[in-house]
Amino acid sequence: MHAADNVAIVANDGGLPAGTVFADGLVLLDKVPQGHKVSLVDIAAGESVRRYNVVIGTAIRDIPAGSWVHERLLQMPQARSLVGLPMATEKPAPLPPLEGYTFDGYRNADGSVGSRNILAITTTVQCVAGVVEFAVKRIKDELLPQYPHVDDVVGLEHSYGCGVAIDAPDAVIPIRTLRNISLNPNFGGEVMVVSLGCEKLQPERLLPPGVIPISDQRDAQAQEKLDVVCLQDAGHVGFMSMIDSILRQARVHLERLNQRRREPCPASSLVVGVQCGGSDAFSGVTANPAVGFATDLLVRAGATVMFSEVTEVRDGIDQLTARAATPEVAEAMVREMAWYDSYLERGKVDRSANTTPGNKAGGLSNIVEKAMGSIIKSGTAPIMGVVPPGERALQKGLLYAATPASDFICGTLQLAAGINVHVFTTGRGTPYGLAEVPVIKVATRSDLARRWHDLMDLDAGRIATGEMTIEQMGWELFHMMLAVASGKKTWAEHWKLHNALVLFNPAPVT
Ligand code: CA
Repeated sequence: MHAADNVAIVANDGGLPAGTVFADGLVLLDKVPQGHKVSLVDIAAGESVRRYNVVIGTAIRDIPAGSWVHERLLQMPQARSLVGLPMATEKPAPLPPLEGYTFDGYRNADGSVGSRNILAITTTVQCVAGVVEFAVKRIKDELLPQYPHVDDVVGLEHSYGCGVAIDAPDAVIPIRTLRNISLNPNFGGEVMVVSLGCEKLQPERLLPPGVIPISDQRDAQAQEKLDVVCLQDAGHVGFMSMIDSILRQARVHLERLNQRRREPCPASSLVVGVQCGGSDAFSGVTANPAVGFATDLLVRAGATVMFSEVTEVRDGIDQLTARAATPEVAEAMVREMAWYDSYLERGKVDRSANTTPGNKAGGLSNIVEKAMGSIIKSGTAPIMGVVPPGERALQKGLLYAATPASDFICGTLQLAAGINVHVFTTGRGTPYGLAEVPVIKVATRSDLARRWHDLMDLDAGRIATGEMTIEQMGWELFHMMLAVASGKKTWAEHWKLHNALVLFNPAPVT
């Protein structure tokens, strides 16, 4: 990965046996699995092991050249202190603008653009989930066929809303997350709520007056009043009365959504969230560098693109604060890292709790190595802003959306940030998908892309085999984003694979 590295990874399918001789004369002393590291030179005990020109650990014992360098041979370095970091010290030359790229999207009153035209039913509390699920099935079966321009109907089900310390300071995170998801560009500003009645998260607290953009002057009066179906209303006699109420209200929104049509929109209207999950040692070699190149293309096109995953950027914090556009942005990054450090400390763990058995089987020895491969998704542009968890992104350019690395929580928080396209890289493989936005899945290895040929949208493993360059793959992904934003279905959409919304709730439950 870098000329100063003293390890490299074996790219070959199935790994390589002991005794393998490389062109430069290096001989493998051990069998090395695919994606795992081999020492390029003799490394003495106590010496640094470098990958991506970063110290990913120190050698616990002497490691002769040609050895399999696995996690048990490495002592992980301490996390970089958050004091004395370089703050907005790098001034990268501005990237040349990229003009003329468009996609066909749904324009919204607030200026945002949807990639799908979906009726979302917001729920205030988990108690109503079964009723909403029942109603959504009826709407799909009976109403959607009458509204051919509406793509889908989705119940925004979650585990929050009651039995929680709703006045705890950190409760703002799940509440604003749910609020901002309801306002995601893919829902066209049509907000309807199903409430139980007695829950702590009352509809007016979730969606206070004024937060829903007025989409049409004719509807201004109607929109001043939040559209809520309350199951405990005295008017409801019997279950079917509740279902009828939900279907009746759904019709009002479906009528308006059905009038919408796709229109050509500039690529600058894309709001893309990138994340990775089920990572392996190829993530930082193939898929994530290609995403990073595409991230730069998005920035050049004037779009919004966000990367996330606190524990996966923590070890590269000095690179990121240096790349912040202003000292204020760098300080906001440090603030989010510090908050998360203390959050983890409360649970008596640190960032090293991030790595999974699959990451390690895939060759990633520890979180430092994983982080260096993860951070590459952010490309090279200056970081223009920081989006705290659950907040909506309001800026163009490259943003850092502070979220846990957990795939479903990161996806949920990026939805709240307002993404209209989600890009997900994976080495081990995951069937991850969201009902609310299309998810483009990028395989880090061709072996995975071949086996999961009807789940992976793009094979970035072709970078490792030499069939394509990072730049070519980045362009292919960029064009795929435009096509998917214009309505092309991803594999997860084809099979209707949808993960649950998982709200990040650092506040206590009661
Ligand atoms: Ca993740």
